[in-house]
Amino acid sequence: MAMKIEKKIKGYAVVKPEDKAAPAAVPAPLSPKEAPKAEVIQMHESLERPETLVGNTYKIKSPLFEHALYVTINDIVLNAGTPYEQRRPFELFINSKNMDHFQWIVALTRILSAVFRKGGDITFLAEEMKAVFDPRGGYFKAGGVYMPSIVAEIGAVIEQHMKSIGLIHDPEMDESTRRLVAEKRAAYEAASKKNTEVSPVAPVATAAAEDAGEPTNGFPPGATLCAKCNTKALVLMDGCQTCLNCGYSKCG
Ligand SMILES: [Zn+2]
Repeated sequence: MAMKIEKKIKGYAVVKPEDKAAPAAVPAPLSPKEAPKAEVIQMHESLERPETLVGNTYKIKSPLFEHALYVTINDIVLNAGTPYEQRRPFELFINSKNMDHFQWIVALTRILSAVFRKGGDITFLAEEMKAVFDPRGGYFKAGGVYMPSIVAEIGAVIEQHMKSIGLIHDPEMDESTRRLVAEKRAAYEAASKKNTEVSPVAPVATAAAEDAGEPTNGFPPGATLCAKCNTKALVLMDGCQTCLNCGYSKCG
């Protein structure tokens, strides 16, 4: 590029190859009026892994697996100490004594880690994985939550982790829904209490369900699976299937 020099040359420096490589490293001098702006670092695949990362390890115990799975998610802290501080998942490992699914698990963890590092919105990963079902059948977790597959449970762990670092915001149940659920639950409990006074069979059935180790999580033992929240909390009230967990209701 040709440039006309109108002033006297007072000094010079030779441009070295490393100067050319990093032209952005030399910021243009700021005019005094311009406020110094911090550069916000976004997640990007060329971001180098720091020596240490912070993370959590989650244990998954499934009746489909003989041994527990340990899912470790490590996070990178971007823009630490600034208002733009953000924790983002950087890598994911799964450990288990179980070698049956070794190659798929390694493939899954590598792809998940690669997508984490690509940047952008990664919360869809949890949704995609939670929707995977095992054709051989899923299982119930303690608390009556249905897991359609082990992949879905890994997805649930990723979602839980993303919630804990503020990447996913839990849609709060609004006050009116919460009140409605509490009212329905009280009404159901009152009704079933009346029933047990009339017939002594019901408490026996309850005890049997508890003996069978069925996870009820405080929901009535006869409750069925709610399609909306995947929890065994659906009971029949006044001819309506009503969920005592999320408030879902279907009459018919
Ligand atoms: Zn529900």
